[in-house]
Amino acid sequence: MRKKIVAGNWKMNNGIIEGLELARSVEQSIGSRTNNGVKVVLAPPFIHLPLISKIIDPGRIALAAQNCASEAKGAFTGEVSALMIKSAGADYVIIGHSERRTYFGETDSALLRKVRLTLENNLIPIFCIGEHLSDRQAGHHFRLIRAQLENSVFHLKTEELSKLVIAYEPVWAIGTGVNATPEQAQEMHFYIRSLISEKFDKIIADDLSILYGGSCKASNARELFVNPDVDGGLIGGASLIASEFADIVYSF
Ligand code: PEP
Repeated sequence: MRKKIVAGNWKMNNGIIEGLELARSVEQSIGSRTNNGVKVVLAPPFIHLPLISKIIDPGRIALAAQNCASEAKGAFTGEVSALMIKSAGADYVIIGHSERRTYFGETDSALLRKVRLTLENNLIPIFCIGEHLSDRQAGHHFRLIRAQLENSVFHLKTEELSKLVIAYEPVWAIGTGVNATPEQAQEMHFYIRSLISEKFDKIIADDLSILYGGSCKASNARELFVNPDVDGGLIGGASLIASEFADIVYSF
């Protein structure tokens, strides 16, 4: 069964004390209203993970890392491996966020290695794809999304692919205040699901959670999440305000 997921990507914000406070506030804001079947995931910075994992109820909030190394271990100064992330208490890893692709030059092949290492360590990849505004304006957005999938996760085996969560995040909507319209989101999510169905299997495509990301907030989450192929959101800025994030969780 396809899961509804709302994941908060805190990016590079907050010291440890503030991070712990935010995690506590999210848990409190979600409160006892936990019965709408939504999986809530928080992706704080790496160094927050082991501490936050000790103070939250894992039955109510799961943790994600925002990235992981493309190698398993060894002489890669400054990197954080999938094994380390798992041992810090996380269950998910965001892979291929557009900020990683743009500012850190992450390639499709490196992202595929990250996905494989994540799966080998029993972590669930939240694999991000999305087009730039110029791609959409030129009418290339479907082709671009197809290429991002074909060059990376379409090399996985069917049982590996079935463990993924996909996040469609149009780059022009991330942090801009301009979200994709519900029609644009549904159209692209449907397209992604159709590609997965063609390449792998219809049942797997139907079971896969596809999240929308890009200026999603409490005021627009409901109209986005109501679409049949939108299974939740990857939330950036609005995840830094506990009450706003909780309202997004309850927008289904
Ligand atoms: C993101 O960075 O994944 C994101 C969706 O950011 P925002 O919600 O701030 O647009």
